[in-house]
Amino acid sequence: MLSRSGHRVLMTLQRKCSNLSQLMKCPAVTEPLNFLAGRRIALDTSRDQIPLQYPATGEVLCSMQLASKMDVDRAVTAAKDAQVGWARMSGFHRGQVLKRAADIIRSRLEEIARLETLDTGKPIWEARLDMQSCADTIEYYGGLAASIAGEFLPLSDGCYAYTIREALGVVGGIGAWNYPLQMASWKSAPALACGNSFVFKPSELTPLTAVVLGEVYKEAGLPDGCYNVVQGGGEVGQLLCSHDLVDKISFTGSVPVGSKIMEACAKGVKHVTLELGGKSPLIIFDDCHLDNAVSGAMMANFLTQGQVCSNGTRVFIQKKIITEFLEKLVKRTKRMKIGDPFNDNTTVGATISRQQADKVLRYVNLAKQEGAEVLCGGQEVTPEERFKGGQFMSPCVLSRCHDDMAVVKDEVFGSLMSVLQFDCEDEVVARANNTEFGLAGGVFTKDLGRAHRVTSHLKAGSLYVNNYNMYPVGVPFGGYKKSGIGRENGPDAIQYYTQVKSVYVEMNDVKAPF
Ligand code: NDP
Repeated sequence: MLSRSGHRVLMTLQRKCSNLSQLMKCPAVTEPLNFLAGRRIALDTSRDQIPLQYPATGEVLCSMQLASKMDVDRAVTAAKDAQVGWARMSGFHRGQVLKRAADIIRSRLEEIARLETLDTGKPIWEARLDMQSCADTIEYYGGLAASIAGEFLPLSDGCYAYTIREALGVVGGIGAWNYPLQMASWKSAPALACGNSFVFKPSELTPLTAVVLGEVYKEAGLPDGCYNVVQGGGEVGQLLCSHDLVDKISFTGSVPVGSKIMEACAKGVKHVTLELGGKSPLIIFDDCHLDNAVSGAMMANFLTQGQVCSNGTRVFIQKKIITEFLEKLVKRTKRMKIGDPFNDNTTVGATISRQQADKVLRYVNLAKQEGAEVLCGGQEVTPEERFKGGQFMSPCVLSRCHDDMAVVKDEVFGSLMSVLQFDCEDEVVARANNTEFGLAGGVFTKDLGRAHRVTSHLKAGSLYVNNYNMYPVGVPFGGYKKSGIGRENGPDAIQYYTQVKSVYVEMNDVKAPF
C-alpha cells in the first residue's frame, strides 16, 4: 500500500508522464542505453545501431547502439574491479543499498511502469504490478543479505570445520522481452545480495528499463561497476558467456538458446541458471468452482498477451463440465478489451513484434488444419487507426484439440488457449506429463486430497492449486526437464549465486603417518 505522501508523488508522476509523445522524448529513452561503471555511455558512432519500436504503433523510439566485444570487455572489467570491494562489505550494508533501491523504484513506480509499457506494449496496469514485484524482489533479497551464512560443523574431539557461502564473482544476466525489468531484478537482486557484481544484456526488443535500474541502484548507493547493462542481440549474449572474467550466466529465454548458452558456459566451466520455455498443463476437474476455474484459465493464458513462460496453455477439462465451462470462458474472453496499452481499462495490449504476431497466426491456421475449432479470437485486429502500425491479436480459445497437434505440443507464446477433454485422473496426469517441458502446471478441484496427489505426480517445478500465474517473491520459481536448471526467487536463489568454502580447523598436534 502507498502512504499518503507516496500517493501524492505517484499522482504527480502520472501527470508528468501522461503524454505519450513526452514520454517518448524523455531522457530514459533518448539518452544512451549502455550503462557501464555507473553511467550511461555513448559508444563511438561507428557502432552498429538498431531502431527501437513501440509495439503498439510501430513508431521508432530511438536508435540503439549495440555493444561491441570491446564494450562488453569494458563492462565485465568494471564489474570485476568493483566486485571485491562490494563482497567485502557486510551483508547488512549490501542489504541496506538494496532496500533503498526498492524504495526508489516504488517512488518512481508510475514513470518506470510507463517505460515498460512503451518497451513491451503490455497494459499499463500489468506493468505497474511488474514494477511492484521488482521492488518486492529487491527488498526481499536486501532483507536476506545479512543472513547469508555457512554452517558450523563439529568434528572429532579438538577439531571442527565451518563453511562460508561466498560470492561467485561476476554474474552475466541475459533476459527475454516479456518481463524486462522483472528479469533484471530477479537476477541482479540475489546476485548483488550475495556480493557478486552484475552485467545484464536485455532483449534487444526491450532495452529501456534495465538501464533505469542501473540509475536506481546508483542513487541507492551501489558502487559504480557493480551493475552494468550492455545492449545487443545474441552475439552480445555470446560475448558475455565466453568472457573469461564472467563466472556465471543467469539466462531467461527459449530452450534452443538456453542450450547454446549452456554449451558456451561448458567451455569456460561457468555456473548457469536457465529459466526456459514451457507448455504447461492446467487441469480442471468437474468438482471445481467453475467461475474460479474460468478465471484461472484466463490468468493462465491471457496475461501480457499470452507471452508468459509459465502459461497453462494446455487446458484439460473433465468431460462432464466442458460445455458449461466453454460457454462461460468464451463469453468472458470476448469481453476482453483490446486497445491502447496506456488505457487503464485495456486488458489486451500489443504483441511484441511482427515476427511474434505472425507466429501466433501461423499456429492458429495450423490448429484449424489439424481439426481444432476456433471458438473466439485468433485474428489480428486494429483497435484504432493510430495503432495500424502495431500488432494486436484477439485472445483465442481453441476447442476440439488433441495431444498430437502442433499447437498443443509447441510453445507459441501468444494468447492461444488449447482446450482438451479428459475422463479420469490417471489419464490426465499421464497426458499432462507427456511433454519435454516441465515449467509449471495447475489443478482446479475442491477435493484437497486429489489436488495434492495430482501436483505430486506432475513433473514440473511450479504448481498451482485453484489459482494460476502467481509469483510471490518468497516462492522459488523454475523448471523441470527442458524448462530449466536452478531456481529464481525465494531463499533457494541464494545457493545459485554463491559457492561454498569449507574450512577445517585442527586444535591438536598433527598425527602424520610418516
Ligand atoms: P530467446 O531465447 O530468443 O532470447 C532470450 C535472450 O537471449 C535475448 O536477450 C536474446 O537476445 C538472447 N540470445 C539470443 N541468442 C543468443 C545466443 N546465441 N547467445 C546468448 N544470448 C542469446 O527468447 P525470447 O526473448 O524470444 O523470449 C521468449 C522465450 O523466453 C520463450 O521460450 C519463453 O518461454 C522464455 N521465457 C522463460 C521464462 C522463465 O522464467 N522460464 C520467462 C520468460 C520467458 P535478443 O533478443 O536481443 O536477440
